[in-house]
Amino acid sequence: MGAKDRIRDFFIENVGKVLTTQEIRRVGGVSEYARRLRELRDEEGYQIKSHVDRADLKPGEYILETLERKPVVSRTVSPQLRNEILERNGFTCQLCGAGPGDPDPFNPDRKVRLHVDHVKPISQGGTDDRGNLRVLCSACNQAKANIQPPSDTALNILAMIRKLPKSEQQEIFDFLKRKFQTEE
Ligand SMILES: [Zn+2]
Repeated sequence: MGAKDRIRDFFIENVGKVLTTQEIRRVGGVSEYARRLRELRDEEGYQIKSHVDRADLKPGEYILETLERKPVVSRTVSPQLRNEILERNGFTCQLCGAGPGDPDPFNPDRKVRLHVDHVKPISQGGTDDRGNLRVLCSACNQAKANIQPPSDTALNILAMIRKLPKSEQQEIFDFLKRKFQTEE
């Protein structure tokens, strides 16, 4: 049984429990456990969450939330190609301009993760052609998968807001806060 199988079994046995890096490393016996976790998440659809996804987890803590697996929508591209696309796109989401570690605009407790996205999904005949690949942040990627994605207008405005100085972002934030507080 390989390291990935042992790590998978360990998570399944402890579904819903917080596991630490030390425990995972002890079970998997590999230093590259992070890559195994990514494979279980991205290639097999296991909903393994970390502090990047959940504010209540500390760095080095992981949890398999449910035994239900997410459909793996798009096959992942090779690490080399992934790096090439990330570099080409300047490690920035091509829809909203978010970079790694920026807060998720739709869920401020989380930070965004960068994905290499197939513009035309594999399921619809899209390929790994460089022209069909682009960097998306997890928020935009998720939005793409949801039935009601945020409008292009909202994404364009978010992209503009990201480029503004902090003081102007604060003005916009205050405006929206006032607006929604009065409406409640
Ligand atoms: Zn984005």
